[in-house]
Amino acid sequence: MARRKVTSKSQKAKARKGARRYIPKRKVCSFCVAKAEDIDYKDPSLLRRYISDRGKILPRRRTGTCAKHQRALAMAVKRARHLALLPFTPAHIRKTGGLV
Ligand SMILES: [Zn+2]
Repeated sequence: MARRKVTSKSQKAKARKGARRYIPKRKVCSFCVAKAEDIDYKDPSLLRRYISDRGKILPRRRTGTCAKHQRALAMAVKRARHLALLPFTPAHIRKTGGLV
């Protein structure tokens, strides 16, 4: 499971007096919440949430996925791409070749 740095909101606020600092909400790994052991590469609707509109795998800092599940997710996305369940590139680039 994901280990987290323990810093309370009040500690962070004290760091700079007056100016309210942006404190991001702690993201939780959705696979840990679902107690998923492995990620199904045959489920493109699930995997699509973890790729960008340009077909890239989204980083952990964007999705909140833990390291263990991010590795499993990357593997699943790559397998799904190989089976043509997910795109390698966005559809419009495939049509135009990206240069036209
Ligand atoms: Zn996880």
